[in-house]
Amino acid sequence: MRRPSQSSEESISIRSWTVPDEWHDSDAGEVCSSSSSSMSIPNCPLAPSLGGSGSDIDVTLDVDDMMPSLVEQVSRMDVVNPEVLRVTPVFRALEHFAVALRFAADGDFYHKSRASTKISTFWSHSWHGGQWKKILTLVTLYNGTAAVSLAFLTGVLMMVLFSFGTLPGIDRGWWRPADWEWSCWSTSAGLVVASLVLTCWRSQTRVFLDCICISQNDDRLKTDAILSLAGLLKKSDSMLILWDPTWTERLWCLFELAAFLKSKTTQQQHLIVRPIFLGPLSIAIYLMFFALALPISTVPIRNATTIVEVLGAMVLSFLVVAFPTASTLRRYFRDLDTMKLQLLSISVDSTRSSCCDQDHVIPSGQRILCDRKIVKECVKIWFGSELSFENTVRTEVLDLLNRDLTEKVFSTPWALGVTSPLFLAFMDVSASMAPDPDDRQPALALLLEGLVVWLCYVPATKDLIILLVRVGRKRSRSTCLEILKNTLVLGAAATPVFVLLIAYGLTRFADPRHALRRAGIFVCCTLFLVVCNFLLGLGLKALLRRPGW
Ligand SMILES: [Zn+2]
Repeated sequence: MRRPSQSSEESISIRSWTVPDEWHDSDAGEVCSSSSSSMSIPNCPLAPSLGGSGSDIDVTLDVDDMMPSLVEQVSRMDVVNPEVLRVTPVFRALEHFAVALRFAADGDFYHKSRASTKISTFWSHSWHGGQWKKILTLVTLYNGTAAVSLAFLTGVLMMVLFSFGTLPGIDRGWWRPADWEWSCWSTSAGLVVASLVLTCWRSQTRVFLDCICISQNDDRLKTDAILSLAGLLKKSDSMLILWDPTWTERLWCLFELAAFLKSKTTQQQHLIVRPIFLGPLSIAIYLMFFALALPISTVPIRNATTIVEVLGAMVLSFLVVAFPTASTLRRYFRDLDTMKLQLLSISVDSTRSSCCDQDHVIPSGQRILCDRKIVKECVKIWFGSELSFENTVRTEVLDLLNRDLTEKVFSTPWALGVTSPLFLAFMDVSASMAPDPDDRQPALALLLEGLVVWLCYVPATKDLIILLVRVGRKRSRSTCLEILKNTLVLGAAATPVFVLLIAYGLTRFADPRHALRRAGIFVCCTLFLVVCNFLLGLGLKALLRRPGW
């Protein structure tokens, strides 16, 4: 199912409805099922009010009477029926191009789930955010580490095999002597392995995804699942929030977060927040680095013109990704500003819920119960009062979302992962030099330089670039100024890269005959630049703490 407020066709909360015949035979206190596809919440609390009547006459209920029972059920944080505590492996949720996430309203995916006693990760998302962004973010989140790691290991294996002469090389028409062969194995095999693993990896992590783990066709199970929502969160080791600006506006998303915070009984229960654009962005940056790495290890270079052409193509592929990336990141940090304002003035009444959007009447004309009322009563029980819940959101939740979305999203492992193709190119060039005894030392020096750039300079520069984007996030008045601002941000972000290239060029003259000593000087320069980046970052952080920034 989609959660209660997310479907216009399948309203979960019902203000009044017609009671199907089978209810009349239900035992009081037992969960009841409904033949009406438009209902879900009503169940056992109502049974007594039916009085065990065997009448065939439909009975219209005043569902305001149901409220105390429903609230009591939800707020107890119990799983009312063990059958609804279900999980699905991540790969099942993502198979067939994540069909379950794309066509949740049109299909029944219940068969992809199975009963469990524990949920590893509860996925919380808004159905109003971008589908493909969400899917790609899940793919990179669950398959990305395996893809990058296996691509890297493949690169190392190829480098070793080529160095020992096991693999053939390609003639790129330059360097001495004429029969010089180049390795392109690490980069190309890395790309193939990364692509295959990213798309085919079968992550076994057991997750709860509403449209798979809640039955669409069995109203009794659907009802039980909704009543157990808080209980399901209590049984979850972690909660993954796939954040987009609509998430913070949705009543049920905040309800899930409130329930998770309330139900956290151990420190092992984690909250993970990721913006949904992170997946497409990570893939784009990873491919951009492959576009930079492939020419370094494959393109034949006959004369100076080809060098210019190759460099031109590399700069173009960089700009094609970098420009939209700068624009996306600036918009993201503006969205975070909006989120802060939203959460600071949050109230249960200001969130959006589709029941209210529909004015509590579904297309068939039936009136439906307002989800907001249930949520309000639950938060009163969990947090003491609505005000206390709102204060928790304005302080704890705001701090948590702000910290996670600002600092934890672009982590060091993430930066190393998306830039790893560059190091694969270093492996190829190094492996190409290794077979010649005279070039063994330069080969080793090159590998060392690549490793230091990748492991030290990339994370430090990433932090600086993110801070630069945050400083330049404000929107300009016109499109032209906006393009100019993106260009300026990009120029500022590219500066540390140029500084490093200059340092690399200059250190080539330091000790031309001793490659390892030269590499040592370059490593010292790189570490000095890392410290400079760090200090600049501290300055920018101080600037961002000032009012108006
Ligand atoms: Zn409502």
